Amino acid sequence: MNDVPKIMHAIVTNGPNDFEYKEVPVPDFEPSNVLVKVAACGICGTDTHILGGHMRPMWPPYYPFIQGHEWCGTIAGIGKDVRTDLEIGDRVIMEPTVGCSSCAMCIAGEYHLCENAAKKDGGYKLLGHTANGAFSEYGLAPPNNLHKMPKKMTWEDAVIVNQVVIALHALDRGKIYPADEVAILGPGLLGLSVLQLVKYLGASKTYVTGRGYRLEIAKELGADVVIDITKENPVEVVMEHTNGKGVDLSVECAGPVSTMREAVDMVRRGGRVVLEGINGGEEVSFNTDRIVLDEISVFGGRGSPNCYPRAIQIIADGHIQTDKMLTHSFPLSEFEEAMRMFQAREDRVMRVMLTP
Ligand SMILES: [Zn+2]
Ligand SMILES: [Zn+2]
Repeated sequence: MNDVPKIMHAIVTNGPNDFEYKEVPVPDFEPSNVLVKVAACGICGTDTHILGGHMRPMWPPYYPFIQGHEWCGTIAGIGKDVRTDLEIGDRVIMEPTVGCSSCAMCIAGEYHLCENAAKKDGGYKLLGHTANGAFSEYGLAPPNNLHKMPKKMTWEDAVIVNQVVIALHALDRGKIYPADEVAILGPGLLGLSVLQLVKYLGASKTYVTGRGYRLEIAKELGADVVIDITKENPVEVVMEHTNGKGVDLSVECAGPVSTMREAVDMVRRGGRVVLEGINGGEEVSFNTDRIVLDEISVFGGRGSPNCYPRAIQIIADGHIQTDKMLTHSFPLSEFEEAMRMFQAREDRVMRVMLTP
């Protein structure tokens, strides 16, 4: 495209906690990619780990690297071999998981579990993790990873879509039925997304465990019972409220082994548990007799396959209070301050977005 510049600004990560705001070439979208002029890119907890080098050599596999995986923007260029209904000027949200499209999992639509994920040149990519992302003025993606935004959707809404999709997949795994009682462990952005989704999908009563201002936000978003883990035992509180029965579904969104165990201990006989937290490979002990004899179903959940179109519709229809979730915005050039305040959890911060 004639009006696409050759040079752009980006935050380039050169090593663990070593980054700079500098000029780099605009990525080449020919022949098979789509170039997007980035409007906003969220900073995610994962970004702090990638920036710190904690996930090496998986994320990032190389330096210098451009992070950023929660982005949206306007299409600026379409490669000549691309087959798509998208057009220049369309507003789109980027989905970061790119499957190899040829293994059995990808063919089954389970591209988040691509069998070639660990192969260096197997075709699988996680944009912003294993390939460059969009802490930059332009971002690159394959056409099938770009989802068109409805007219009434704001850029702020679009950044939040990236969390709601993960919550939606958690519920695809654990299922939600009308009048279910649901416990959500961890009031981060994922937990708050799960909370709003289960309320929209018919939960009769919701419990959220956690601490601090995020628990207050859960209350503001309509959690029926909030449980401060610094003062109360979450399993005991849930059991009191359910006459010793337990909830139908628990969704673990925190990671510590104690929370994993609580998620199992607070469901009813025949209940469902979804584990979403990552704890670095630590082992958790469960009472397996309880899982067997009470027929507890325990699901793992990762990523957000086939969730973007539905999450976009749910947000466009106003079922998620994105204004309580997208709390701060900084120009890309102020990345350092944005990252600092995000990590320090100042000013009731939830999601911070960067605008190039
Ligand atoms: Zn993220
Ligand atoms: Zn695959």
